[in-house]
This record gives sequence, C-alpha cells and structure tokens, in this order.
Amino acid sequence: MTNTQLPAIITSTNISKHYSQTYALAGVDLTIGLGESLAIMGPSGSGKTTLLHCLAGIIRPDEGNIRLLPTDRSSAAEITSLKEAGRTALRREVFGFVFQQGLLLPELTAVDNVALAAMLAGMKRPDATEHARAWLQRLGLAEHLSKRIGQLSGGQAQRVAIARAQVTQPVVTFADEPTGALDSATSTEVLSELLASTTGRGSTLVVVTHDETVAARCSRIVRLADGRIVSDSANQAQQAEPTRYEAPAQHVQSNQYVQNNR
Ligand code: ADP
Ligand code: MG
Repeated sequence: MTNTQLPAIITSTNISKHYSQTYALAGVDLTIGLGESLAIMGPSGSGKTTLLHCLAGIIRPDEGNIRLLPTDRSSAAEITSLKEAGRTALRREVFGFVFQQGLLLPELTAVDNVALAAMLAGMKRPDATEHARAWLQRLGLAEHLSKRIGQLSGGQAQRVAIARAQVTQPVVTFADEPTGALDSATSTEVLSELLASTTGRGSTLVVVTHDETVAARCSRIVRLADGRIVSDSANQAQQAEPTRYEAPAQHVQSNQYVQNNR
C-alpha cells in the first residue's frame, strides 16, 4: 500500500512474521516517504512493534522483503538480506530510535549517553561530545548536560533519548510509544521536539502510538489489526507544526552497512 507524494525511503513487500502458530504480521506492503511523519496505530497485539522492528532491521521477517532506497546521505540496502553486522551498522548510522523508556544508560550523564551513540556511528570522542552538547542544548537541556539519567524527569529523559536518536542525523527515526509514560502536557512538548528534529530537517519519523492526539500531528496514519494494514490515510487535518530548527552540523555517513556486506 502506498500513500505518499514524497520520494520513497523504505518499501516493504508482503512481510510476514509468525511466532509459533500466531501471525504477528500477515503480509504487510508499506511504502514510507522521505520526510513524512507516519503514525502506526492499532489495538494491543496487532503487530505494531513487530512491524517497526522489521522495518528498522531489528528483527527479520519470515517472508517478504524490505528495501531502503538511496538518499544523498545513505546507500540503498535490502534490509532483509543484510547480515547481522550490516543491520547493526544500519541501525547505528542511518536509523534513530526512541522507545517508551530504556536505551539510555542510567549510570551515564546526559552528554555521555548522547555522545556514545555518536561514537558508535563512527564519530571521534571530541566531535561526539560537541554534537551531543549541541543537541541537548537545542532540546532545552543546557542545565542538565552533566546529570545522570536517573536524576532527570521522564520528559527530560525522553528529550535525551531524542538527542541520542538525532545526534547521528538519521534518515529515518523509529519511535515506539515515545510518549506512553508521560503526562499529556509533557507528551505534547516531547512530540513537538520529535517532529521538529526529524521532519523539521526533512527526515522521516515512524511512530507507533496508542494516542490519537499524537497521531493527529502526523502527516499519515496507518492502522493495523491482526497483523494487517486495515487503513492508510494522509492526515488532511494534521495540526501545524510551527517549531522548525536547523540541526547542528551534518555528520558524514560512512555507509558501513554496505561495506560490511561486501
Ligand atoms: P503491538 O505492538 O501492536 O502491541 P506486537 O507486535 O508486540 O503488537 O505483537 C503482535 C503479536 O505477536 C502479539 O500476539 C504478540 O503476542 C506476538 N509476539 C510479538 N513478539 C513476540 C515474541 N518475541 N514471541 C512470541 N510472540 C510474540
Ligand atoms: Mg507494541
């Protein structure tokens, strides 16, 4: 199913995934556009997380394939045929992740959490630290750079998670219930930062959410039921996103997911 006027960045063709007798995904065709904000909705157990994990190369579907199309910052890849090392490089260099909680290391400071992600993508420590500080400042955390994650509020920790995801300037950011643990005012702010830092610089956001107010701010909504897409629509009523900002200086990609698979 396609529903976008934008150039495609990821296409999945007939992907399925089953666990013993249960189909978590039962034949999903989805083309995701560069620069769109795509909300994936559906009841609990409908396959949202499984779909996100397949698209992001975290798990491999049993059938079907997923293709990453080339951009000026990343090479094309058949995600489903990449070896583990290639998928790891892809996740580190080309994709960004924000989850409901976790991924952040509680014993490290905010700066070190973000800098670590940059170093895993190939940046040297001084650059990584500088980029980490710039992103955290951009996200309103200038006062909290040296605090450990455990000393931050839930909303502040999610801002660190956004900085951690964006410090490599990913082409696609995947978020699974990123506001699920936040109160509604904090959720609104965190989603604004997530949209601005992704679609605001022309990259793609794929966000799994239960929250209709989150989906209402995305440009497209896909609904799943029993592992299938049951609706896919452009969100004509998308609320305006006034916050736009320039990302800190561009990190040049090394495309190791290609090198690792030669
Ligand atoms: P959602 O994110 O929409 O709540 P999931 O993608 O997590 O749904 O799960 C879809 C279905 O696949 C559910 O029935 C779930 O129990 C099953 N499932 C997901 N992951 C696993 C797993 N690792 N092992 C067994 N079953 C799983
Ligand atoms: Mg889920």
